[in-house]
Amino acid sequence: MKPDIESPFLPLGHISPSGDLGEALAAAALDMPGATALLRRHRVVGLGLARLRSRPANHGLPPDTAEAAEYRDRLDACLDRTRAEVRAAVAEVGVRAADIKGGSVLQLYSIRSHRDVGDVDLMMDDADAAWRLAETLRSNGFGWCDFELPWIKRDPTDGRVYGQVQLANGKLDVPVRVDIHFGGYSLRHCRRIDLPLGRPGYSVLDPMENLPCLLGNSAGDFLIRLKDVNDICLMLEAYGRPEWETTLDLVRRHHLSAFWNRLLDVVRRTSRLSDRASAVAESLVILGVRPERTPLGVFDHRRRCWVTATDAFAWGRERHGPGRAIAVAFGAYRYYRKRHELSVGPCRHRNDARLLDDLTSETCVRLVPVDLLRTLSPAGAKIVDNIRAEEAEPIPGTVSIARVEREPHSYVIAAGEVFAPTLNYGMCVRQAAVGDAVH
Ligand SMILES: [Zn+2]
Repeated sequence: MKPDIESPFLPLGHISPSGDLGEALAAAALDMPGATALLRRHRVVGLGLARLRSRPANHGLPPDTAEAAEYRDRLDACLDRTRAEVRAAVAEVGVRAADIKGGSVLQLYSIRSHRDVGDVDLMMDDADAAWRLAETLRSNGFGWCDFELPWIKRDPTDGRVYGQVQLANGKLDVPVRVDIHFGGYSLRHCRRIDLPLGRPGYSVLDPMENLPCLLGNSAGDFLIRLKDVNDICLMLEAYGRPEWETTLDLVRRHHLSAFWNRLLDVVRRTSRLSDRASAVAESLVILGVRPERTPLGVFDHRRRCWVTATDAFAWGRERHGPGRAIAVAFGAYRYYRKRHELSVGPCRHRNDARLLDDLTSETCVRLVPVDLLRTLSPAGAKIVDNIRAEEAEPIPGTVSIARVEREPHSYVIAAGEVFAPTLNYGMCVRQAAVGDAVH
């Protein structure tokens, strides 16, 4: 199979392609499943299908392609409804939240459906604000996502607790995920980027201020998709050279220069930009740095693991010297090497209580809702122990996230619910047998 950069379908999903759109449409007419697969892979279904439909011969799209088009329309409607619910909850709780990622870059697109957005992403000041919002959304019928559990880390430089809480709005025709990020945006294994949140209440982050999220996401996945390329093209057209300076600083500081040069290389090879935007793109290349070999459109699990471990090594060396850096890199390698899957078995835990003593940026502590554990437990739903709020001590750096000790386990009470912390998703029947009667 040809690499995506040489695919005849690529112009279909590119906002300003250098390749011939007419030829791409003709190629798609001969292989609609192939074209649809590329649009899905690159998260540019909305844009690509609008172009396919614009060709009279394509009015009767094949069933798979028509289904993809219909799904995008329904998802956009459900995203709007979820965003409205989230805005109302933010106002009710009285916290500050900025719409980031897809919600931010949508501002650059003149036609909304031309940017695929999969979920609602928010950035909030700290863990307490994020979990208060989560509690309100839970009481409005949002559920936990069993494939993406809440997590926390601590930045060793300032003690700040950061992480994510994911919820799903399952009340709609298409379930919509809400990712609440707090305390900064997490980048690769152990880096953290601060984002300016702006005014109180709900707001939408400026696309340039959102760029660290785009880079964090794409560099973190070790994958460039056309949706990222399109965002950068529109940003190159929208912002003059001086406005890119802060981003360039951040790219250098967070060791993203090689990734950045690769992203710019893909943009320059695939896009037809205005003269001014081309000059800006040219001037943003970081000289003397060879582009990383980040794949376009096709996820490479093994290389992603390797690049993440190498980055963790650089991070560890900067802070602690080469000896400690090897341990950090090995930790990253072990974590990213395999996909983790939640399981409940007999108790083999020794000192899991220590997970919360040693919060760092190097270990991602996942918080598993115990009511989710009970649904997976072979022992059924029998509750043998209750975790009570009076026993709980706040986790340093937070006010409302508290821990309770039950050697060899520990539990977390947050948003009025009980969670079992884990690093490797290996849970036990004793953890599933605690009750969430917290008061
Ligand atoms: Zn156990």
